[in-house]
Amino acid sequence: MNDDKGLVLIIEDDPQTRRFLKSSLSHQGWRIIEAEDGKTGLDKVKNEHPDLVILDLGLPDMDGLSVTKKLRHLSELPILILSARSQEQNKIMALDAGADDYLTKPFGSGELNSRLQALLRRVSKSLNNSEIFETGQLKVDRVLRKVHIAGNEVRITPIEYRLLSILIRHAGLVVTHRELLKEVWSIEHINDQHYLRIYMGQLRHKLEVNPARPKYLLTEIGVGYRLAIL
Ligand code: CA
Repeated sequence: MNDDKGLVLIIEDDPQTRRFLKSSLSHQGWRIIEAEDGKTGLDKVKNEHPDLVILDLGLPDMDGLSVTKKLRHLSELPILILSARSQEQNKIMALDAGADDYLTKPFGSGELNSRLQALLRRVSKSLNNSEIFETGQLKVDRVLRKVHIAGNEVRITPIEYRLLSILIRHAGLVVTHRELLKEVWSIEHINDQHYLRIYMGQLRHKLEVNPARPKYLLTEIGVGYRLAIL
């Protein structure tokens, strides 16, 4: 057993997925509580105060979107959603309603691990809020607003910087198109996805060795973008 990382609530009706999550997570030092439906899950959040929630979108009693909204009403705790491929639209809505990231079933323990690490960073806020952000060869001074790649300063525009800094705030986690458009351009532009394609393309040209195969600024098809933690 590793040291205690905290308490995870798994809200999932499928016993096999629950068993898999339970064994991977307890191996890494998490304590686990479980709920088979949305109502029980919400009760356990209120009564047992978990540090993190893993939420299946396809529950027998409530859809995952309503559970996400109710959870957000109760607390700021990180929510990782589990979705099947058929739940694409629900997944995006749950992310926009405040879920922090997602895993598409089936997933492996490696993927589960890296998502949880990113969520923990968000919780501890240590790295994502510090003055200097670093991942791989990318270094961003958030006080001086300077960006370096492999030691060389890169000139980026104010809009590119805003885009990058939102991704840094959520480093390792997906940020939806809507959220990026809303934060960088305002609510009137939440459907203008071409803005994102243009500016993300420019950023990739400045930061990536091969912009067509990005290492840092990853596309989550149909959902949004993710800044990789390397
Ligand atoms: Ca299910």
